[in-house]
Amino acid sequence: MRIVLVGPPGAGKGTQAAFLAENLSIPHISTGDLFRANISRQTELGKLAKSYMDAGNLVPDEVTIAMAKDRMEQPDAQGGFLLDGFPRNVQQAVALDEMLKAEGMKLDAILDLEVPEDEVVKRIAGRRVCRNDSAHVFHVSYKPAKQDGVCDICGGELYQRDDDSEETVRKRLEVYHTQTEPIIDYYKAQGLVVTISALGKVDEVTARAMQVLDQRTGDK
Ligand code: AMP
Repeated sequence: MRIVLVGPPGAGKGTQAAFLAENLSIPHISTGDLFRANISRQTELGKLAKSYMDAGNLVPDEVTIAMAKDRMEQPDAQGGFLLDGFPRNVQQAVALDEMLKAEGMKLDAILDLEVPEDEVVKRIAGRRVCRNDSAHVFHVSYKPAKQDGVCDICGGELYQRDDDSEETVRKRLEVYHTQTEPIIDYYKAQGLVVTISALGKVDEVTARAMQVLDQRTGDK
């Protein structure tokens, strides 16, 4: 299956993507994670990406598309993948379609995670992420770690992402509305969008997502 996950920052895309990818036995490809890995390794791409990310802006399409393409061409992604955070604007969506078409492939579904805006701000402001694995996500009030600053799962250090500050979150939301939301209409025109509520417990949202994805593949 080839799936794209969309939703505003704080919708829980990373968390859901990790569970869904495992359930579906496909790799979870997050452009945000790929950029963060480049930042940790201090690559040229990482240095470039950081300036955009810290300001809450999108990294330029050219480098983003090349990075995503390179990842999708890896052997583990040949049978399918779950994209998280890519595409993030219509130009990237068009590039992805062209990339897949050239290989005789296409997307199976766009999973749109819906969450009200005030909830988004609450979720992001308290979010703490593990340095070892970005799927290990905690929240100071909703899901506190047993020991402050330490990941319950692997003992890694928990930190607040630089782009989770309130000012950057506002900017990221604006970027989401103006640049990313239009891809939902783009994919609706292809009949690919399934929308679910991202409210509730993590496993409830995963179950909801699996149900609509199963239905979609069953319909075919
Ligand atoms: P995420 O982890 O998906 O929230 O992404 C964090 C940040 O990485 C975003 O706010 C952007 O600055 C950058 N980023 C991630 N994916 C993309 C993309 N597809 N296009 C441009 N910038 C991206």
